[in-house]
Amino acid sequence: MSSEPVFQRVVIVGLGLIGSSLAHAIRRRWEQTTIIGFDISRDVMDRARKLDFCDDIIENPIAEVEKADLVLLCVPVGAMEEVGKIFGKHLKQGCVVSDTGSVKGSVVRALESHIPEGVIFIPAHPVAGTENSGPDAGFAELFEERWCIFTPLAETDESAVKKLREFWEGCGAKVVSMDAEHHDLVLAVTSHVPHLIAFGIVDTAINLEEVKKSEVIKFSGGGFRDFTRIAASDAVMWRDIFLHNREAVLEMLNRFSGDLDGLRKAIEGGDADSIEDAILRAQIIRHRILEAGEDTKEEDFGRRKQ
Ligand code: NAP
Repeated sequence: MSSEPVFQRVVIVGLGLIGSSLAHAIRRRWEQTTIIGFDISRDVMDRARKLDFCDDIIENPIAEVEKADLVLLCVPVGAMEEVGKIFGKHLKQGCVVSDTGSVKGSVVRALESHIPEGVIFIPAHPVAGTENSGPDAGFAELFEERWCIFTPLAETDESAVKKLREFWEGCGAKVVSMDAEHHDLVLAVTSHVPHLIAFGIVDTAINLEEVKKSEVIKFSGGGFRDFTRIAASDAVMWRDIFLHNREAVLEMLNRFSGDLDGLRKAIEGGDADSIEDAILRAQIIRHRILEAGEDTKEEDFGRRKQ
């Protein structure tokens, strides 16, 4: 399926899961778009050349950034400022710059001052991913039917937002806009704290003295296995998310600790009704997620089909 490209020349900075998936999705949708890739890691660039999802992979992409209509920053949140500093001054007038960072407030603060006048910066976050990272992990369908959240600044040119929306929709996503602070609060509770809990519970299990590691692995089916899948996510990416969405993560973590303490007290006091009510409330949310099509009973929903 190919149609008139929304952007003619696209530079992707960071060729991991998200950058490579975007390249695949662009290729699939718009054959005529020229895709230039760059990554800080030589190994990643070599691998990306072999996988051949870009038209060119360039070690010094400044000349390409100068010609690009769209520059997509797909690097960890903590690397955004450095990338902005290097490439910002080379962006051409009218170019759209966007990112895919999982945190928006800190990315906006990190990039804003590096974006020249006449360049349109539209922060974005595709709420799509897997626990895998690197260029081999990417696939064209990653964004299909997934949300991409834009957090445009008040003064952002509407026609550029429309164009970027068309681009993401062409990659299969559904687009919604909200302000950066609200994004960070919502994602803290739907993504960041759940990941923190997964990292924490896996750590608790492996530090137990009374239960052998081999038993944790052998009997992992009862819920633990799903936590280990989430906990297998990239360390740098998640380190940066927790440090850069600090306030919202701490706020949600405090609320969660309070609720968990309530459950602990209910178990301590043998309060069967409170325990059952909490489980029933959780079940209602699960049904609503299924009804909304945000998950299916399929085990690999949202992940690459083998
Ligand atoms: P990834 O697979 O780890 O890829 C990131 C790539 O960026 C790596 O190859 C990394 O190289 C490279 N990089 C780091 N610093 C760089 C720099 N200064 N210049 C150029 N390249 C640089 O991560 P990802 O999962 O694609 O995530 C990319 C962004 O999307 C992150 O901001 C993340 O928060 C966001 N995001 C991720 C997901 C997800 O589920 N994974 C979902 C939505 C949004 P090195 O490995 O050598 O550092």
